[in-house]
Amino acid sequence: MSLFRFKGFPGTGSFRHGIHPPDNKALSYESKVEVMDTPETVTLPLLQNLGVPCKPIVKSGQTVRYGELIGVGEAFVSAALHSPIAGKVKKMKVVTLPNGKRLTAISIHAEGEQIPPEKLWEEMTSKDWPRDCISIYDPLTIVKIIHDSGIVGLGGAAFPTHVKVTPNDTRMIDTLMINGCECEPYLTCDYRLMKEASRSIVTGALLTGRAVSAKEIVICVEDNKPEAITKLREATEQTVIKIAVLKTKYPQGSEKQLVQAVLGLEIPLGGLPSDVGVAMSNVGTVAAVARGVIKESPLTHRVISISGKGIKTPKNLFVPIGISMGEVINFCGGITQDAARIIAGGPMMGFSFSDLTAPVTKGTSGITVLTHDEISNEQETSCVRCGRCVDACPMNLVPTRLALAARYNNPSIASQYHINACFECGCCTYVCPAKINLVQLIRTGKRLVAAWENR
Ligand code: SF4
Ligand code: SF4
Repeated sequence: MSLFRFKGFPGTGSFRHGIHPPDNKALSYESKVEVMDTPETVTLPLLQNLGVPCKPIVKSGQTVRYGELIGVGEAFVSAALHSPIAGKVKKMKVVTLPNGKRLTAISIHAEGEQIPPEKLWEEMTSKDWPRDCISIYDPLTIVKIIHDSGIVGLGGAAFPTHVKVTPNDTRMIDTLMINGCECEPYLTCDYRLMKEASRSIVTGALLTGRAVSAKEIVICVEDNKPEAITKLREATEQTVIKIAVLKTKYPQGSEKQLVQAVLGLEIPLGGLPSDVGVAMSNVGTVAAVARGVIKESPLTHRVISISGKGIKTPKNLFVPIGISMGEVINFCGGITQDAARIIAGGPMMGFSFSDLTAPVTKGTSGITVLTHDEISNEQETSCVRCGRCVDACPMNLVPTRLALAARYNNPSIASQYHINACFECGCCTYVCPAKINLVQLIRTGKRLVAAWENR
């Protein structure tokens, strides 16, 4: 059977529109995950998830153990926070994240004996993750452990996972889709996780599937990751899990496009995957579920990619949440002389930043450093009405209209053209020959609409 034939699913293996940017994954594709040592200090913002911040339960001067609960997610859409190191809590401080948000954070200085992070990574990559005793876990127990472990979506969205898996009488889940597409150029952290820790992903997928009572579980991977597909095929043998191998196209990893490609279903505008009976989780998220349930370990570490032509030695790293971006970059030899832009995440959906003290958070999938050659310095010109942005938009929006509405301060038109359905994938900006930063204008437009709706 060919590895790349898309069959056994109602979808076509792809979605309408989208783009094919160079994936540039070769820079870090072959770099095995390296484990970083425990840093001197970690900085943990109280809000690392979509939703409401957690409430701190530690005081300055207090000693904490590895994995100790330091923040409680009191609201339903919130996530608990745990210490990734043993140490002493310092004074609370305010940090600025790459997306510009200023947040209160708990700072912890390392003290005392640490759990070697290599041990945690060895656990993740072990071949001994169970696949046959999943039914001993009651679904509600799994949901509670996910909640208590502070697990959020590790693909970048950071939506609290317990919210997705909590039973809902009005929305039954048929299919659990595990997202291993990693369609953002440069990033390879999910690829390495699928290749090196496939067994933990499979255990986590089975547990998550049990939590949502899914009839089907599908792990979705793009066809530019053949070695990960082989590993997952081996790890899923004699399980109910299917593998969907999709055509490589950006943004294949976004929820709506993935559901369309694999199941042939359309999520309604403004709707969620659960509206069509689907729950979706990233591969890293389900690996965290496996650790939470089987090892009783909360989410304290994650894999990230450090890549781009502007980084001396691109790597994939297993790091504690809260380590600074600067330390991670230094571990990769620092930036090159022609480095021009540092981005949290990938170049399509990431945020440029310059404050290297900013911490890695639960939602940080990587850092991309671009050189002057890779950045367009061309000046913006007038729209030539070529329609390329419309052809590229995977949401069937009219980006040029949305941008105009934002430019001319017209929230009514922006709303009429469904500006909030834009998930800021960046396809329109990428293809625009007039070099108009459409996404930036659309972000402004969304803020205008929010203010107009709350007037
Ligand atoms: S309008 Fe939004 S969803 Fe459409 S291409 Fe642009 S950024 Fe992507
Ligand atoms: S791609 Fe750029 S130039 Fe072409 S219609 Fe869209 S905004 Fe105008």
